[in-house]
Parts: sequence; structure tokens; C-alpha cells
Amino acid sequence: AKDAGRNTLSSYTSDLTDRARRYLNMDVRLRQALEQDQLVVFYQPLLDLDTGRCSGVEALVRWQQADGSLVPPMDFIPHAEQSGLIHALGDWVLERAMQDFLRWRAAGVELDTLAVNLSPRQFMQPDLVSHIAAALERWRFPAACLELEITETALMGQGAHAEEALQELKALGLRLAIDDFGTGYSSLAYLKRFPLDKLKVDQSFVRDLPDDVAGSEIVAAVIAMGRGLGLQVLAEGIESRHQLSFLAERGCHAGQGYLFSRPVPESQLLPWLENNKAP
Ligand code: C2E
Ligand code: CA
Ligand code: CA
Ligand code: CA
Repeated sequence: AKDAGRNTLSSYTSDLTDRARRYLNMDVRLRQALEQDQLVVFYQPLLDLDTGRCSGVEALVRWQQADGSLVPPMDFIPHAEQSGLIHALGDWVLERAMQDFLRWRAAGVELDTLAVNLSPRQFMQPDLVSHIAAALERWRFPAACLELEITETALMGQGAHAEEALQELKALGLRLAIDDFGTGYSSLAYLKRFPLDKLKVDQSFVRDLPDDVAGSEIVAAVIAMGRGLGLQVLAEGIESRHQLSFLAERGCHAGQGYLFSRPVPESQLLPWLENNKAP
């Protein structure tokens, strides 16, 4: 029994060392990736369901390895959140996306919205607002075109800070979207208090439309509620025509998903727009 105890302890400590090593290793590699321009921003079209027009794009980061393979954000964003690197990473994504967006507009493409994800830790940052203001200023970016996506979870448990920060962001003239709506542990009371522009219905609700009766009811109710509150409602993860027509019939304003396009690198967005002009 003693031996077993010792074994357990030593495997426990070596496990900890392993984890620490992996963590540090990841940290170093991610910092390098940021410095050496190994991160890339992909863009996924946001479509107006009434007209079929692409009204904007969401910026989604990827990590491009030396061999060209792409690491998905879920494999490194949580780590960057934990280590604090998310601030530098988030700044980089925001500024890169702003520059790409301005270039498209200069080329005559009509896009209204650049949506950028804000992680919970970025949202908690005390100088977030001055930071965003400085980025808008630096690139002379039209604030009304910038939409920040924040999850419910990031807003909750922040007390007065969340409301204050959102008010200040709105005062810059930009737009605010609730991301992954319906997946956080939250009350709905905040919808009426916070100065929001858009609800993004999480793809987990869209996935089983329209066959799942309960799921369909929930989505229909969320659309009706969002509309009633004067919010734009966008459904994420639309993969089929059936899902699209269900959502459009119930008054969902906008959508995003593989049915229209996967997230694509900057170089592929203009050709996609050219081939997918609204009829
Ligand atoms: P998200 O903000 O909810 O982004 C939507 C995710 O759904 C994207 O995954 C997108 O590729 C995927 N998606 C879009 N359409 C479909 C569809 O029809 N079917 C399915 N199955 N998936 C679809 P991605 O790019 O892997 O990003 C995952 C998450 O990583 C994002 O979820 C977001 O939370 C985070 N993320 C990505 N880029 C950034 C960033 O620059 N900053 C921060 N803080 N988080 C980011
Ligand atoms: Ca998002
Ligand atoms: Ca989402
Ligand atoms: Ca998500």
C-alpha cells in the first residue's frame, strides 16, 4: 500500500511537471507565432436572410504552422486567455481585420459590418474602451462598421462593470452583439439593461432544426423575443436549406454558416463575394 502511495504521488508530480512543461512550451510557441506572423485571420460572410446580400464578415483567427496546417482557435484561444496573451493576440486580430476591411471597402466592396470576437478576459480589461478607441483612431476606421461579439458568460458576474463598459463602447459609435446566445448561465434581464444591437443564436440550437420540435420552438421564441426588443437576430451554423427556410420564415434577420461559406482566408473573400452577389 505504501508503494502504491508513493507511485501515485510520483506519477502525480511528474504529471504536474509534464503539464507545466506543456503549458510553458505552448506559451513560448504562441508568443513566437504572434511575433513571427504565424497567425492568420479568416473571414466568414454574414448574410441578410431577406435579400441574400452579404452585409459583413466575422473575423476568426487561425494559427498557421510551418507546414501550412491550421490550428483551430479552440486549441489555443483558451490557453491565451489563461496566460494573458489574449490581449496582444486580440489587438493583433482587431487591427489586422480593420486593415483588411478598409482595403475591401477601398476596392469598392459594400460591406457594412466587421465583427470581431472579444474574449471574457479582454472584456474585463480596465482600459478596454480607450484601447478600442485608439485602434479606431489609428486606422481611421468607421466605428459604425465595427461590431464586437461578447458572450453572455463574459458579461455575467461583472456587476456594474459590464453595463458601464458596454455603455462606453456604445458611446464610441460601434455595435455590440451577444455571441453564443442561449448557452450561458444567465438571466434574460440583462437584455433590457444592456445597450445591445444583435443576438447571435448559438449553432447548437440551429443544428437540429427543423426536426427537433422543442429546439424549433426555442429558436422561434428567441427570434420573436429579439425582434420584440429591437435587436437584430442572426443564426449561426446554418448548414442546410431546411434550416435556412425555417429561420427566414420565422423572421430571423441574418445568418452565417457553411451553407453560405466556411470561413475563408482574406484572399478568397473578394472572389466569393463576386460569385455570390445577391440576385
Ligand atoms: P464563435 O465566435 O462562435 O465562431 C463561430 C464558429 O463556428 C467558428 O469556428 C466557425 O468556423 C464555426 N462555424 C461557422 N459556420 C458553421 C457551420 O455551418 N457549422 C459548424 N459546425 N460550424 C460553423 P472557429 O473559427 O473554429 O472558432 C471557434 C471559436 O473560437 C469562436 O466561436 C470564438 O469563440 C473563438 N475565436 C475565434 N477567433 C477568435 C478571436 O479572434 N478572438 C477570440 N477571443 N476568440 C476567437
Ligand atoms: Ca463569434
Ligand atoms: Ca458564436
Ligand atoms: Ca461558439
